[in-house]
Amino acid sequence: MYTFKELGLVNIRRMLEDAYDRNYAIPALNFISIEQFNAIIDAMLSKRSPVILLASPNLHKQLGFQMIARIAQSGVDRIRDAGESIPLALHLDHGMTYEQCTSAVEYGFSSVMIDGSALPFDENVALTARVVEYAHRYDVTVEAELGVLSGMEEEGSRGIDHANAYTDPEMVAAFIKRTNVDCLAISIGTSHGLVKMKPDSDGVLPELRFDILAEIERRVPRFPIVLHGASTIMKYYVDMINDFGGDVTDTQGIPPEQVAKAAKHAVCKVNIASDGWIAAMALTRKILHEQRRSIDCRSFTLAVRPELARLYQDKIDLLGSARASRLPS
Ligand code: 13P
Ligand code: ZN
Repeated sequence: MYTFKELGLVNIRRMLEDAYDRNYAIPALNFISIEQFNAIIDAMLSKRSPVILLASPNLHKQLGFQMIARIAQSGVDRIRDAGESIPLALHLDHGMTYEQCTSAVEYGFSSVMIDGSALPFDENVALTARVVEYAHRYDVTVEAELGVLSGMEEEGSRGIDHANAYTDPEMVAAFIKRTNVDCLAISIGTSHGLVKMKPDSDGVLPELRFDILAEIERRVPRFPIVLHGASTIMKYYVDMINDFGGDVTDTQGIPPEQVAKAAKHAVCKVNIASDGWIAAMALTRKILHEQRRSIDCRSFTLAVRPELARLYQDKIDLLGSARASRLPS
């Protein structure tokens, strides 16, 4: 067993507190490749922003928790080598079972999510409380989810394509009190997948349910909220995918200004996966098309990194996380 402190990682408690106090949100970025990981660290170093690395149970199937933790540790080394002390956290995204969470803690994750959102309230409480009880023994922070995001929850999916059920603010305070959880993912109109919103008959997109967010903030002041499914799904990259042989239609992301607005309120952590994947896929398709005589896979992996780093810098700007106070790592 490794502790996250031995790996030089931090849990997300102080990050969330600072984000709340200074009205920004921490970018929580899924990575599924080394290029993506490197690009995340490039962006955090150039912007001097804290970052939460998200690793899903699917990434665990691909690499195993041990390798994921070692990759995160190499990020800490890079930050130190650059003479910086910017905090980096490693968070299990959409952990679906108690065992996934405890295993992540044992390999050095500094934070875990237990996603009991598809369970009845009392079962979600019981599962979350059990994970919190274990994780807090090691000072590992825990995120839970209340309310269901529409669309397919890709990460650690139970394979359910469910309808949106907004979080009921009345249940939030009881959930936090009974579980002692550190932060809570809520449903206010974002969703996983490529279609996150539908315009009305005049083509106008709906607003996220900022009224629900405000009501939650009123009932549990200073409690950090997490927003999932917040990618923009940029048309530029979707078009690039399709221009180079892909077939990705019917996409609609969350307008970035709505995400920025949420980040100024109780939302302190914003999860972003799809935007990184779409950009990486688009660039890979383009480069493979252009470099037809190449037999070296690095011809596309090397080109993806700088462009992804720019994308993550833009996310840091959107969420305002470069204004984090200099938290000790
Ligand atoms: P996106 O698919 O909108 O990027 O959401 C990611 C997410 O919520 C990961 O937990
Ligand atoms: Zn999610």
